[in-house]
Amino acid sequence: MADASFDAVIIGGGKEGLVMGCYLALNGMTVGLFEQGNELGGAACTVPTPASGFRGNPHAEICAFWMSPAYYDFNLGEKGLKFIFPEVMMSKIFPDGRCIVVYRALEWNEELGTAIPNQAIVDRNLKELERISPRDAERVAKALEKKLYNWMYSHGQVLFNPPPLPGETDYIADLLKDPEGGIDPRYPFMTEYEVIRDLYDSPEMRSFALQWQLMNGIAPGDVAPPLQALLPMPSFAGLQAFAIAEGGFHNVAHALQRALSEQGGKFFVGADVEEVLVKNGRACGIKLADGTEIEAKKLVIDTAEIKQTVSRHLCNAQIDPEIRRKIDNIMTDRSQLFWGHIAFHERAQYKAAEWNPDCGKARLVFLGDADVEYMYTHYGYQMHTLRPGRWPERTYMYELTTTPWDPSYAPPGKHIALVGEGHPPPASYLTEKEWIQVKREIGDRLIKEWQKYAPNMTWNNVIGVNIPTPYEYSQKNPNWVNGCMYTSNQSPSQWANFRPIPEFSQYQVPGIEDLWLASGSQHCGGVGTLGFSAYNCYKRISQRLGLRKPWEEKGRMF
Ligand SMILES: Cc1cc2nc3c(=O)[nH]c(=O)nc-3n(C[C@H](O)[C@H](O)[C@H](O)COP(=O)(O)OP(=O)(O)OC[C@H]3O[C@@H](n4cnc5c(N)ncnc54)[C@H](O)[C@@H]3O)c2cc1C
Repeated sequence: MADASFDAVIIGGGKEGLVMGCYLALNGMTVGLFEQGNELGGAACTVPTPASGFRGNPHAEICAFWMSPAYYDFNLGEKGLKFIFPEVMMSKIFPDGRCIVVYRALEWNEELGTAIPNQAIVDRNLKELERISPRDAERVAKALEKKLYNWMYSHGQVLFNPPPLPGETDYIADLLKDPEGGIDPRYPFMTEYEVIRDLYDSPEMRSFALQWQLMNGIAPGDVAPPLQALLPMPSFAGLQAFAIAEGGFHNVAHALQRALSEQGGKFFVGADVEEVLVKNGRACGIKLADGTEIEAKKLVIDTAEIKQTVSRHLCNAQIDPEIRRKIDNIMTDRSQLFWGHIAFHERAQYKAAEWNPDCGKARLVFLGDADVEYMYTHYGYQMHTLRPGRWPERTYMYELTTTPWDPSYAPPGKHIALVGEGHPPPASYLTEKEWIQVKREIGDRLIKEWQKYAPNMTWNNVIGVNIPTPYEYSQKNPNWVNGCMYTSNQSPSQWANFRPIPEFSQYQVPGIEDLWLASGSQHCGGVGTLGFSAYNCYKRISQRLGLRKPWEEKGRMF
């Protein structure tokens, strides 16, 4: 006999598990959610770092959760989740004192749930681009005449819907077929570097786009999923909004937990799930590592990364060996980051403020030269093969100082920034000893680089540094295999109907009824908090079980 019983049993208490729990509880189901860690939230967390009195978001920092339908469906604003939208969205600062500053042109209306572009700010962004490259400003302006909005509409549809089944609209295929769609038919086959060369003429814009994509886990020589490859373009017009979760990213998890608890959902921390129990081809519960058995009367939802699901949770289930082999072969050698915090006394004083005084006020500041050839031929590869004492000669870092918008992250008058550099090797490439040495070196590397652009950012200004490596990430959360922040690579072979493999792409495992997959390994969960695998999986569950469809009830586009 089971030790406890729920209609729905959820494995994993990150944001995907919590979102799923809220939607199922909305239908009157009893929900039990099981999290192996000591608290809920997964990557949606805030911790004391890197020095006493400071707090930082060690994982998810750039917050896109304001777009989540769950925010509206569960009134998360009233449950403590507030967003701050800095006016200056991002900047790229060059060593010669020039910079490109992008102002946020999307205006979010919380009540209506809309994000409307402000044309005056789009025009201001084009003027800023023109100062660096009139030709690229013209190219972005031309794209804005039609195709950028088409891309954004299709991208939205792709993010908020399951991969299309036969007979359903395939937004990407339609866009690719549409002569007005503005997507060159070669793009799905081109490397990021090739796409970027085609989209922009100036080395400054090309380097900005490449650096941005490196942070997204896409290297210059990689082929990115369709539309992902093009996304820097709308950002350059300001048609994105990077929010800050006020008071810490953990408020995403806290608000979701309140919504779940208010609806009667129960959660259990320190509950490591060992196995999904399958009887007569149906998932009927879970077994925890301590031997406790939990019954699932209606369904089990697994939000663990797919390799763990198949090799551990389904180790005793009947699954085609060829499918097990395919899952084993999924690559996790992209989307690693150096990503951590520096606490300091005085904000960075950028030399480039003479070019545009707003450059340092951006939410996301990229620092680096415009040598795209070097980025392509040396940097990307050297970064990926670095060893202690053996780093690429040049650095392409970024910083996100949070305290100007939310001083609660630091003691009065002090500051904290998330800093990072993209595309380090996966955890398995180096030994633990080597990673410890690399961690000692990365802090000094980034501070020395920052100083070149902002001379006051010396060690004298620094209070504390903690920049975790992919190895540390891989040890922290079983969902980050090899330190890969998106659970597996972002590539065309890991996108839409191919993610994680075609057989599982509709959130189910063939041959096992009532088991649903809703982790970042599924479409569309592998793009950070912008990922909505639980929401999209719920859409399929609601079709199958005849559950509520809040998007239809509220006449929402997504
Ligand atoms: C370094 C880093 C930086 C990032 N930066 C950003 C960013 O700036 N913006 C952004 O939007 N996204 C960012 N992300 C990605 C984003 O945080 C994740 O994509 C997102 O949190 C995924 O949510 P999730 O619920 O699928 O997974 P997670 O948040 O990883 O949650 C999964 C949960 O399942 C639990 N679990 C796993 N196995 C078991 C088991 N067997 N039993 C019980 N529980 C289990 C885990 O402990 C975890 O709590 C970052 C990620 C990392 C690692």
